[in-house]
Amino acid sequence: MNILLIGSGGREHALAWKIRQSPMVDTLYAAPGNGGIDAVATNAGLDVTDHAAIIAFCREMAIELVVVGPEAPLVAGLVDDLRAANIKAFGPTKAAAQLEGSKGFTKDICARYNIPTAAYKRFTDVAAAKAYVTEQGAPIVIKADGLAAGKGVIVAMTLKEALEAIDDMFSGEFGDAGAEVVVEAFLEGEEASFFALCDGKTALALATAQDHKRVGDGDTGPNTGGMGAYSPAPVMTPALCDRVMAEIIEPTVKAMADMGHPYTGVFFAGLMITDKGPELIEYNCRFGDPECQVLMTRMKSDIVPLLMAVATGDLSNAAVEWSDDPALTIVMAAKGYPGAYQKGSEIKGISEAEGKTGAHVFHAGTKAEGGHVLATGGRVLNVTATGKTVSEAQAKAYAAADIIDWPEGFCRRDIGWRAVARERG
Ligand code: ATP
Repeated sequence: MNILLIGSGGREHALAWKIRQSPMVDTLYAAPGNGGIDAVATNAGLDVTDHAAIIAFCREMAIELVVVGPEAPLVAGLVDDLRAANIKAFGPTKAAAQLEGSKGFTKDICARYNIPTAAYKRFTDVAAAKAYVTEQGAPIVIKADGLAAGKGVIVAMTLKEALEAIDDMFSGEFGDAGAEVVVEAFLEGEEASFFALCDGKTALALATAQDHKRVGDGDTGPNTGGMGAYSPAPVMTPALCDRVMAEIIEPTVKAMADMGHPYTGVFFAGLMITDKGPELIEYNCRFGDPECQVLMTRMKSDIVPLLMAVATGDLSNAAVEWSDDPALTIVMAAKGYPGAYQKGSEIKGISEAEGKTGAHVFHAGTKAEGGHVLATGGRVLNVTATGKTVSEAQAKAYAAADIIDWPEGFCRRDIGWRAVARERG
């Protein structure tokens, strides 16, 4: 069959790499693609905001499945338009993608279906929000309702910080995303991510991961899209995973179906593992980036039947196998990221790094030009390795990163530190 993959990041390179391994696939097309994706897929040369052009391409190329990687096209209703044109698609509809697009929407579902999450209130009025925060006291968490590229959440340790955050959110800086604010109780614990597929009625647990959001070693400095990740998350015991399915994922599946927005695609649940057990922090309606890179590396099953089962509502008999070996990925970013950075520098030594270490390098922000690999983004490469332990995977990934010749890039030196410390006891 022919498949079209939408996206241009490291997540999509990992998906393309995994889809390409399936014997079911004839041609894999991608748009917009990148230097790595284009090596395993045929670039479709499409504008991904032009849904009519995507539909026309699917008809012309006999595409049987469209896999949507990032959230923006989901929130823009690409899956709705594909389905209306009778084209199968992996990903939620626009209405179902509200699970990521509106924090208030998700919190209300949690309240109605008894899904464990931080106590909260929604506000559209500055004075009312401030009065509530003053009454609750700090620490407290202030969130813009809509998508704000990871910048719309302030974990306020003092009341002053919380009140300032409310002013900032309502200042118009976040556009529509800040028209409403959610105020949440502060949760204490270890964070982990849990992934599950859903075909609208049935959910299938995938695997767990942990990531590093801050740019600096020791989880310091500004937030980023993610500087590294590993899977599985050691904190997530099988018993905790069962609880996440029973207490969080399955009630969400029911809630979405009850509301007339059956959820199809992947649930990416951000969790806080508290003294009481797992609590939901947020849902994302797509694979994480860079979590997808470690999940695809560990997945032993063919992914295509799973993606197809989600798209056709046929997941009830599906199963998925994983390697027991942990996988770890290091993000190499352009110097300056997450602030201003230069584009266009050349990266050398990727094949040598892979050949000498057995690590695999996914491209996140590159383009190939005349046999050269050029950096085109902030997060540029994802150096991914497996091992018998996280420590072993970490050592292999750093050995590969050190061979890559890219003076204009940098990476954190401590990805996986928490898991490595656990292994060392
Ligand atoms: P992301 O970039 O992960 O998509 P986001 O903007 O959607 O982030 P959240 O995931 O809801 O926002 O929150 C970002 C981070 O803030 C979380 O990863 C967590 O560290 C912290 N956080 C959020 N809610 C709480 C809470 N109730 N208690 C403690 N920390 C929290």
